[in-house]
Amino acid sequence: MEANQDLYKPGYEIPEELRQQVTITTLERIYNWGRSNSMWPMMFGLACCAIEMICTAASRYDFSRFGMEVMRPSPRQADVMIVAGTVTKKMLPQIVRLYNQMSLPKYVLAMGACACGGGPFKEGYNVVPGIDTYIPVDVYVTGCPPTPQGLLNGLLTLQKKIKMEQMKETGWYSKEPVVEVPIPILGPDVYDPRKSDLIYTETHKPEVLSTEESTMEGESK
Ligand code: SF4
Repeated sequence: MEANQDLYKPGYEIPEELRQQVTITTLERIYNWGRSNSMWPMMFGLACCAIEMICTAASRYDFSRFGMEVMRPSPRQADVMIVAGTVTKKMLPQIVRLYNQMSLPKYVLAMGACACGGGPFKEGYNVVPGIDTYIPVDVYVTGCPPTPQGLLNGLLTLQKKIKMEQMKETGWYSKEPVVEVPIPILGPDVYDPRKSDLIYTETHKPEVLSTEESTMEGESK
């Protein structure tokens, strides 16, 4: 068996006779190698894409081959959130709450056209045009629905990303307190607390207010 290429740190010569037993590496590479090969997805699905995700976990495609077999029903025990399906405005606050409850380091994979950008329902009154408006997304998997091979490719891409991470730069291990993503507020439309100032400014412009007043007058006649 060859020395593991993910672990091997180039630049050091290992004698020929030892190459199958010995590798030279860094603590960071070992750490990232271990993490990337035990990514536990959170067990939830939103729409049709979830069926493809279930299929990817089942015996034919079997993502346990890559260390992802343990799908967790608890955000505390999950490393990656697969947003599989249409994100409705009603479901959005729950998704953001679950994201906040995941422990660090945590990753998000947007699966399918709906999660990436709203998909066929983008103009719908009840659908969010992409989950990345609200939580950070690490990998996008396109398609409607993506195939199991597509999802596997996305998960392997996430593994590559994790292997490239540097502990000092990621921010996962910073001593600063974790800033939670504000949970969107469900009303006549979804309301993102981070944009409250902008919403106030836009909705209190004179032309907007005068339009509203004339509409109300017309309704009362
Ligand atoms: S992307 Fe297509 S398959 Fe996936 S949830 Fe949306 S409509 Fe369904």
